[in-house]
Amino acid sequence: VSTAAPAPLLRDLGSIVGADAVLPDSTATYLRDATEARGLGGHAVAVVLPATSADVAAVFGWCYAHDVPVVPRGGGTGFAGGCVPFGGVVLATDRLTTVRAFDPLLWRMEVEAGVRTADVRRLARENGLLFPPDPGAAEQSHIGGNVATNAEGPMRSSTASPAHGRRVSRVVVAPGEVIAVGGAARKDVAGLDLKSLLVGSEGTLGVITAVWLRLIPAPESALPVAAFYPDTASGCEAITATMGSGITASALEYLDDGALAAARRSYPGSVPEAARFLVVAEADGSRDEAERLRTELVEALGEGALAVETPEPASLWRWRDGVSIAVTTLRGGKVSEDIAVPVDRLEEAIEATVEVGRRHGLESLSWGHTGDGNLHSTFLLTRENVEEVAAAEHAAAELFVLAVRLGGTASGEHGLGVVKRGHAHWEPRIEALQQEIKQVFDPKGLLNPGKKL
Ligand SMILES: Cc1cc2nc3c(=O)[nH]c(=O)nc-3n(C[C@H](O)[C@H](O)[C@H](O)COP(=O)(O)OP(=O)(O)OC[C@H]3O[C@@H](n4cnc5c(N)ncnc54)[C@H](O)[C@@H]3O)c2cc1C
Repeated sequence: VSTAAPAPLLRDLGSIVGADAVLPDSTATYLRDATEARGLGGHAVAVVLPATSADVAAVFGWCYAHDVPVVPRGGGTGFAGGCVPFGGVVLATDRLTTVRAFDPLLWRMEVEAGVRTADVRRLARENGLLFPPDPGAAEQSHIGGNVATNAEGPMRSSTASPAHGRRVSRVVVAPGEVIAVGGAARKDVAGLDLKSLLVGSEGTLGVITAVWLRLIPAPESALPVAAFYPDTASGCEAITATMGSGITASALEYLDDGALAAARRSYPGSVPEAARFLVVAEADGSRDEAERLRTELVEALGEGALAVETPEPASLWRWRDGVSIAVTTLRGGKVSEDIAVPVDRLEEAIEATVEVGRRHGLESLSWGHTGDGNLHSTFLLTRENVEEVAAAEHAAAELFVLAVRLGGTASGEHGLGVVKRGHAHWEPRIEALQQEIKQVFDPKGLLNPGKKL
């Protein structure tokens, strides 16, 4: 790690990107992400805001030559501390905001890494298209950050597959070179799939500067269904029955008892008194198709339900987007994880979240993306209470082991970052292979050190 004095570093980086694009180390907003609620904050020697891929490469090259760590940063909304720096230079993508290509008739767009997720969704919508990934912080998060964490959110179209809809096109790799790894072609098996390797790499292999996005025609109608159950078991049974019945829901979400209690008052409809579990599903397609699917969903989810409603879409999804905040306000802080398990083990994972929390003296709850078996298992705490924070970290660690035992993973969409590093429980050879890949991409170990691997 460099001992370079900040003054020459600031001067040299300023000469590459312009002095106004080099911020002082004390620019606090660039030293945190959404883990701030659990007390995580970092430090850096400088924050740099390049405006082009070439400038990213030049900054990266300077840092690599001078043994200065580089921490890529998008919108800073990550839940794993992935962009929180512990020394080195923060390379922020705020100024990489060009839409490089948009071909609505070909359902595709190429954007620079710093374009915000919500802006992509808006531009697509204005042209009759849909960009399906919809992580909760879409107004702040950047496409580069989305890809680097493989962020998804509720699946919002029956034909969408976010993981295949985003292909890294340009990336800066060590020792400071822009390479084009993927183009507009939809298929390419000519080499090892580097563009997919970069998806979810959390800034440990390179700095993504541009991405091709695959869009789909926006469905004419998207009609949600909300079904309330007396307990987790009956809710999970209805989910399995619905999936087994062959109905393709474009979104399938759940809230457990604790999450429903937290967000109950703002629900845009009436919640039955005895409700302890909620399933939200959505039917999309042409108007007729969506209505037909919705009727089928109402019937399938009605099995064992206390009530089934068909809420107004915009207010329902606005409410769903606010669940995380409603949960946070319960105690002022939370440790919220994102384990994923096979869909048939969902009930066990939901029950285990509450049980593990109880054993550690914490109130706990979960909600999540049922269709993907992805839970936001959450332990509530007061941020200033050091014992509670420590208890929550222990509870989360226990939950990661459980997720792997159930055939799942410690992280379904937030990544490991710094908070879950060491908790993935890979087999030794898999761990070693990943370390070797990291070594090939980043021989000096300067790219987002201490994260993920
Ligand atoms: C209220 C709220 C709701 C959320 N809901 C969801 C949800 O539903 N689903 C979900 O998946 N996530 C969700 N998240 C988490 C977060 O929004 C996602 O992880 C998001 O994709 C992070 O994007 P970002 O631009 O903020 O990345 P950052 O937080 O800035 O960075 C995340 C990681 O990516 C790396 N990185 C960033 N940009 C680049 C780049 N250009 N090249 C290489 N590496 C890079 C960083 O080094 C870091 O490791 C939510 C967060 C909040 C605060």
